[in-house]
Amino acid sequence: MIRNTFPKRNVVAIALAAAFAVAGSPAMAKDVTDADILNDAKSTGDVLSYGLGTQGQRYSPLTAINADTVKNLVPVWSMSFGGEKQRGQESQPVIADGKMFVTASYSRIFALDVKTGKKLWKYEHRLPDGIMPCCDVINRGAALYGNLVIFGTLDAQLIALDKDTGKVVWKEKLGDYAAGYSYTAAPIIVKGKVITGVSGGEFGVIGRMDARDAMTGKMVWTRPTVEGHMGYAFDKDGNKTETGISGTLNASWKGDLWQTGGAATWNGATYDAETNLIFAGTGNPAPWNSHLRPGDNLFSSSTVALNPDNGKIVWHYQNTPHDGWDFDGVNEFVSFDYKDKSGKMVKAGGKADRNGFFFVNDRTNGKLLNAFPFVNKITWAKSINLETGRPNYIEEGRPGNPAAEADGKKGKVVFSAPSFLGGKNQQQMAYSPQTGLFYVPANEWSMDIWNEPVSYKKGAAYLGAGFTIKAIHDDYIGSLRAFDPTTGKMVWESKNYAPLWGGVLTTGGNLVFHGTPEGYLRALDAKTGKELWKFQAGTGIVAPPVTWEMDGEQYISVVTGWGGAVPLWGGDVAKRVNFLEQGGSVWVFKLHKS
Ligand code: CA
Ligand code: CA
Repeated sequence: MIRNTFPKRNVVAIALAAAFAVAGSPAMAKDVTDADILNDAKSTGDVLSYGLGTQGQRYSPLTAINADTVKNLVPVWSMSFGGEKQRGQESQPVIADGKMFVTASYSRIFALDVKTGKKLWKYEHRLPDGIMPCCDVINRGAALYGNLVIFGTLDAQLIALDKDTGKVVWKEKLGDYAAGYSYTAAPIIVKGKVITGVSGGEFGVIGRMDARDAMTGKMVWTRPTVEGHMGYAFDKDGNKTETGISGTLNASWKGDLWQTGGAATWNGATYDAETNLIFAGTGNPAPWNSHLRPGDNLFSSSTVALNPDNGKIVWHYQNTPHDGWDFDGVNEFVSFDYKDKSGKMVKAGGKADRNGFFFVNDRTNGKLLNAFPFVNKITWAKSINLETGRPNYIEEGRPGNPAAEADGKKGKVVFSAPSFLGGKNQQQMAYSPQTGLFYVPANEWSMDIWNEPVSYKKGAAYLGAGFTIKAIHDDYIGSLRAFDPTTGKMVWESKNYAPLWGGVLTTGGNLVFHGTPEGYLRALDAKTGKELWKFQAGTGIVAPPVTWEMDGEQYISVVTGWGGAVPLWGGDVAKRVNFLEQGGSVWVFKLHKS
């Protein structure tokens, strides 16, 4: 374990001073390199990537803020995103060289002096009429590379700005927004390339992962995540060559629906340098009505592992074969290592899927190692067979086929848990190598769901389903839960009235930080779940906190602003939490010195 000691801090301070002396001017921000990004999880003076390191553990070794000192945590500054419109703020800030880069709703990005909160520049993307974000006008964050800060927009563009001036350096189109493409995830950087997916699974888009040269935006490779579609590689002049179709045409998609097959890669990706693999989650097969598309429908509702050098799918694991509930498999696949019973180190990855099961896969080859429920009620499968890797389905848990009814208009309604908003959704979990536990922001909710006939029309919702989301319990929906991934044992839980929609941070100070829709940023004991501190931020929190150190002090930051998918899609649950107010700010905290 890396401890944050005073001598080490002094070494860092001296190293920084030396770096500034070489550069000549502290005002001139230094470029972010591939080595910096690979070291991000260990370098405590910056937060360079979504997930606090490309593996996505959201763990910081910092210890100054800990179970004893956290009671002295106080705000340093707060800055409002302003504007006439607010809505959901799901962004994770990135921080380098004393500057914070933070995205906000409606495709905005701000650069701030991280010591004072002073605004250095902002960029507000001009959005056209007719954009089709399914699940609020949110953005989850930016990536840093070289002198650039790179983020995606709701009209499906990828934009690189000079991080010192805010001037646009390059701009590339990710998809046709009129066909339902949009972009909300934080891009990641792998070996000089910016890695992105696409949003739009509710409109019959084709999911895919792209790699572009991070400095120029020029495409390097693209890999569709729907069976039957062609992948391409690009040379420096932009000439493309075929690199083979994904999977085998019609092997798991009968008929023609694969042509508008969804599997949108809308929640970003993680990268593990040890195995040299990008892990991307894929969304629902389109449309939701599963009776229209017999088969497993690869590579929907899966984890796909890609070679960053050429975009080849090295392995895949399908969390929900033949998804009929919109259990998008987009949730983050977080690399971690553990010792098995024979004492051998296992290179694994964990994923708390929307479908209610927590999956542990061998991250070198995708083999399923463990799967256990992380929510109390699951109606679509009894369990996951660890031998075959496939679910033991409960057949009556699948919404019925409208074609089987006399009028053909509405299939049998089923009660389903989790709801399609998931046992966990976009809110990122954290893993602590210190405790060996995953901290999962889970929700207990259900839905009535039924199927309807539907046909594809460009730019129109492509569901073929209706639904109402409902709470299961009167006293809580959300529950932050600590799990041992090797045993599936829940070590503790902390319940919350509203559904949890904000990500988690864990630290070497034996703490877990997360926010609630009720507006509290909370710190819990990582081993017991006991609440040690909370702060009311004035609007709901649906974003993940971060931490770093600066001038020998540890800081915490979180973006606030209630919104996201719950108020838009939440049915009875949306009504239950309609007392929550919108906002839009970023907060920074440190320990009060008495
Ligand atoms: Ca770092
Ligand atoms: Ca979906």
